Amino acid sequence: MTTSTLLPNHLGGQWVTGSGAGTPLFDPVLGTELARVSSAGLDLTAGFAFAREQGGAALRALSYGERAALLGAIVKVLQANRDAYYEIATANCGTTTKDSAVDIDGGIFTLGYYARQGEALGSAHALLDGERIRMGKDPVFQTQHILSPTRGVALFINAFNFPSWGLWEKAAPALLSGVPVIVKPATATAWLTQRMVKDVIDAGILPPGALSVVCGSSAGLMDQLQPFDVVSFTGSAETARIIRSHPAVAERSVRCNIEADSLNSALLDPAATPESEAFGLLVSEVVREMTVKSGQKCTAIRRVFVPRALFDAAAQAIGAKLAKTSVGNPRNEAVRMGALVSQEQKASVIEGIARLRLEAEVLFDGGGAALVDADASSACVAPVLLGSREPAKAKLLHAVEVFGPVATLMAYDSIEEAYELIRRGEGSLVCSVYSADPAFIATASLELGSAHGRVHAISPDVAASHSGHGNVMPMSLHGGPGRAGGGEELGGLRALGFYHRRSAVQASSAALDVLAASAVALKL
Ligand code: NAP
Repeated sequence: MTTSTLLPNHLGGQWVTGSGAGTPLFDPVLGTELARVSSAGLDLTAGFAFAREQGGAALRALSYGERAALLGAIVKVLQANRDAYYEIATANCGTTTKDSAVDIDGGIFTLGYYARQGEALGSAHALLDGERIRMGKDPVFQTQHILSPTRGVALFINAFNFPSWGLWEKAAPALLSGVPVIVKPATATAWLTQRMVKDVIDAGILPPGALSVVCGSSAGLMDQLQPFDVVSFTGSAETARIIRSHPAVAERSVRCNIEADSLNSALLDPAATPESEAFGLLVSEVVREMTVKSGQKCTAIRRVFVPRALFDAAAQAIGAKLAKTSVGNPRNEAVRMGALVSQEQKASVIEGIARLRLEAEVLFDGGGAALVDADASSACVAPVLLGSREPAKAKLLHAVEVFGPVATLMAYDSIEEAYELIRRGEGSLVCSVYSADPAFIATASLELGSAHGRVHAISPDVAASHSGHGNVMPMSLHGGPGRAGGGEELGGLRALGFYHRRSAVQASSAALDVLAASAVALKL
């Protein structure tokens, strides 16, 4: 890639370069400019209409099984180009190979999962929701709930931290449902999304209009949305507010899914001791969550709750492991943690740490160690563990999400207090629980479930096989109530619900028999 190439957008079934000089994308470690993006001058109205009419009709003409085969073909194309994606991620996201894999291979894995799930839906064109229900004395007249693909486009407005996974975890269920996709990646890391879409388009797998990408400003995108379209947003609570109050959502009832900030927690069983396996498992997971992708994961652990008697031991054990995390240029193999994605994010994380320090002490600061192959002008930030022995008195610690390698250790006196403090996050994506006691895990899951999209329990018997606190697996629900946005994604075939409309068909048994022949019962 030559410096400052303007990345073309794909809209209206063609590649179109935006006008003007565009916005530059940078290497967050070296500071070099990599490419530019611009959505200025695009004919959004024509592009959305093309996707809605051409792309939508072509996708809906296929069965679930045929669309699942398209997902399988996309997987093959992406796998064939993996090396290029890793290069782009290193340059534009500042991630180590291991961290790039979370995004790139995580996205491909999710697509593959939906390809397999979709295959099982076979030749159907709609989904049957539940059984027929009699509507009167005479059983001949009944109601059957059905789910049919919405006749609109799915607009994805994505966050900077997952340019690959963020696209495919949404596109897989949308395309499988028969709904065309228009993705607007976050500007800072748009290159990887754009390149993946380019490879899929160039391979000629999808019908024209089924997949579009608009890089650069979001201006005008929401204005295009019509009643049968859907919008799925991932990003900050601030932008989420703008999306929710846009007339498309507020007046035209465009269906809207929001994935926003989250103050995820880790909870150690009150019966744990510093020698217990549960304690060791919590320490390892907290360190992993703080450092994977430099803590730029919406699911990363931000608050760590331990019994008061274990506060010092936990601080010491987490700090000792964090001290082994080498930070710097991801091209150097000795580096375990790369950079944040941009100078803006670095400034935001440094400011966020300063805010949390108003209520917390510093238990560990990796900032004293030299960066590897990178200097202070890079977007690298070392891990910081903060601590609070009086978290009940804190406000910011339960409200401010610092999107970097930062977590706060908190002491609790009773398990009821711990549950109450965790719920002060006002709704999070995930809480992990560390215990060897199945009964404690079951009780904690019931206590915490309603405030979280996912409860991840780590006990010694699953130590080697659990999927990780922060890993979003396609078969499990992703999303969370309240502050986390109130959205729901993934969860296996449940994800198809967002892209379908439910209706009740009230008809004779004979008519419902014919309808059932072109539909499949959705077993959730
Ligand atoms: P952001 O600033 O809100 O940006 C998110 C997306 O919205 C970007 O594509 C951005 O485009 C676009 N955008 C900005 N202003 C807009 C507007 N007025 N109308 C429409 N779109 C607009 O968030 P971010 O900084 O990229 O992401 C970090 C946040 O995302 C964190 O808070 C994190 O917790 C959250 N997150 C949540 C999840 C989840 O699944 N729950 C996953 C990842 C991240 P530009 O880039 O061009 O400004």
